[in-house]
Amino acid sequence: MRICRFNNDSLGLVIGDEIADVTSVLASAGTVPAWPLPSGDWLVKNLDNLREPIMEAAKSAPRVALSDVTLLSPVANPTKVIAAPVNYLAHQSEVNADSNVNFGTQVKTIESAGLFLKANSSLVGVSAGVRLRNDDRRHDHEGELVVVIGKTGRDIPEANALDYVAGYSVGLDMTARGPEERSLRKSIDTYSVVGPWLTTPEEVADPDNLELLLTVNGEQRQKTNTNRMIFNTRKLIAYASSFYTLYPGDIIFTGTPDGVSRVYPGDEMYVEIESVGSMQVKVLG
Ligand code: MN
Repeated sequence: MRICRFNNDSLGLVIGDEIADVTSVLASAGTVPAWPLPSGDWLVKNLDNLREPIMEAAKSAPRVALSDVTLLSPVANPTKVIAAPVNYLAHQSEVNADSNVNFGTQVKTIESAGLFLKANSSLVGVSAGVRLRNDDRRHDHEGELVVVIGKTGRDIPEANALDYVAGYSVGLDMTARGPEERSLRKSIDTYSVVGPWLTTPEEVADPDNLELLLTVNGEQRQKTNTNRMIFNTRKLIAYASSFYTLYPGDIIFTGTPDGVSRVYPGDEMYVEIESVGSMQVKVLG
C-alpha cells in the first residue's frame, strides 16, 4: 500500500500513476483527537485499522493523476525527525578528504557520533521543493532511505524492531556545509524532504537491501545499496529507542552514501529507492 497526503490534506492511495482520493475514510475512522493532541501522528497511528476501509473506498473513489497534485509530506505531525550522521563508510571517507565539507573536523561514524535531530519545521513533501538559504554556503543533497515509525516504543529490541515500522519513504537530508552543529545546518525550512508517499512494509522485502540512486539534472551523483549501512534499519530503530521514546509518525533518516554534492537554484534532484518510490525535487533560490 502506498499512502500519500496531497493538496489540502487529502488522503490518497497511490495506484500506478494515479491517486484514489480516499479522504472520506478519515470521517468514518472515529474522532480525531482535540487539543492537547496526544504524542504522535494520528493517521500513522491508525493506519493498520484504516487499511481495509482505504482499500474498500479506493474501489469507487475519484481518481486524479499523480502529476496533477501537490504532494505533501506523508507524515503530517511527527514528534521528531531523527537522523543518522555518518552511516556509510564511503561517505565518511569523502567527508574527511574534503575540507569544503568537513570544515576542519574529522567526522566519526554513527558508532561514536550517535544520532541528531532535525527540526520538524524543516519537513516538506516533494512538491514544495527545497528553498536554499540565501548565503554563500555550499548546500548539498543527501539522498536517504527514510523509516516511519508506526507504534510507540522504548528500548525496542533489535530482533523486533521492524514490527515498529509503519512504512518507508524516500528522503532528502539537505545540508548547509559549515562548522556549526548539524541540527542548525540541517534544519533550515524545506531541508527535510520526505516523499513521495509512505510505502507500507509488505511491499519492501528487506529495507537493508535496497538500491538507492540520486541524480542532479539527470547526472548520477549517489548510488548505493542500503546493505552498506553501518547501523542497519533494525539497529537504528533499537538504538534510537534506547534514547528516545518513539511515537507513531516519527521519522528516521538512515544516513547518506558517498556522492554528496552542491546544488544550485534551478537544479532538479531525482531520488529513487527500490520498492519504495522515486521523487523529483526542485531546488529553489
Ligand atoms: Mn544525512
